[in-house]
Amino acid sequence: MRQLPSTGLPDRRGRELRDLRISVTDRCNFRCVYCMPKEIFGRDYAFFERDELLSFDEIVRLARVASGLGVRKLRLTGGEPLLRRGIEELISELAALRTPAGDPLDLALTTNGSALPVKAAALKAAGLRRVTVSLDSLDDDRFQAINDVRFPVSRVLDGIAAAAEAGLGPVKINTVLKRGANDDEILALAEHFRGTGHALRFIEYMDVGATNGWVLDEVVPSAEVVRRIAAVHPLEPLEPSAPGETARRWRYRDGAGEIGVISSVTEAFCGSCTRARVSADGRLYTCLFASEGHDLRALLRGGAGDEELADALAGVWRERDDRYSELRSAERSEIRPLGTPRRRIEMSYIGG
Ligand code: SAM
Ligand code: SF4
Ligand code: SF4
Repeated sequence: MRQLPSTGLPDRRGRELRDLRISVTDRCNFRCVYCMPKEIFGRDYAFFERDELLSFDEIVRLARVASGLGVRKLRLTGGEPLLRRGIEELISELAALRTPAGDPLDLALTTNGSALPVKAAALKAAGLRRVTVSLDSLDDDRFQAINDVRFPVSRVLDGIAAAAEAGLGPVKINTVLKRGANDDEILALAEHFRGTGHALRFIEYMDVGATNGWVLDEVVPSAEVVRRIAAVHPLEPLEPSAPGETARRWRYRDGAGEIGVISSVTEAFCGSCTRARVSADGRLYTCLFASEGHDLRALLRGGAGDEELADALAGVWRERDDRYSELRSAERSEIRPLGTPRRRIEMSYIGG
């Protein structure tokens, strides 16, 4: 077989393919109001059938080919990835993959945390390195209203503790802030996780999908988050730990740990976006805001060899010119979603 290039696959803007996010299911046990609102994701919603999802063999093959093209980081997501039956088995197969230089891939997973109390140890044993847990509020009533399935916040906090105990740390906690919904908890969240060794990251609410009715007024700018925390607990900036890192990191001056802010709206980071995404049904997306994906499942099931698969992946990446968030802020004096009439993919489909 022809030797695949080990690194250095630039797109049209010189950004190399480095990270692959793989959605393993479109289903979720939560109905977060901004992600899978019940009115749309109700009883009649047509989730994928089992045979529509990429199989574990297909996912592993894709990841192997992608690592040959320069991918060094894999993140499993969903929907809720821990709902996919046998996820530990998939993780152990992905953990066994090696880059052309012989290194393991950096393997992580994003979860709502609900299954971590039960699954954390098995995930670690299977070879998972780290988890990111989404948590938008510490207030139980509010948390239950956001997930809209009455899931108690204490169970997610137990999940975070279980992950840390299992060695899946440092655990990252992702909080999406929405003005008027949870921005009054910025300080409480920061103080809850100060000194725990977990890294809390605040994410600006984005105009992804077509079901959440995004308006700019609901975005809490990262600069405000940093200002509000630093007013009580002084902060200093940290250098990025990896190129292309989406979070800007800040350290508490008193040594109590760090926080991160992800400014997807107010400070677009398209210039360093090295991430491709694969949906649960095997479509490749080169941007969170893309409306069309490339059907890799058809190739996988149509008898394509590794070389053909690599050529297809590389071909799509080389042609990539995406920079939605940059355009959103550059082309409007006032930031608002671009191209609203276009069909948008949902976060629960592509996994963030
Ligand atoms: N179910 C898992 C979870 O909640 O972590 C993984 C998938 S979920 C779609 C991934 C992340 O996307 C979550 O942290 C969620 O808060 C975030 N998300 C969903 N809609 C968003 C939006 N409009 N803006 C910013 N983040 C969003
Ligand atoms: Fe499910 Fe995650 Fe979306 Fe919430 S954010 S509905 S947990 S996929
Ligand atoms: Fe990457 Fe698209 Fe987000 Fe820009 S808008 S950072 S290109 S995913």
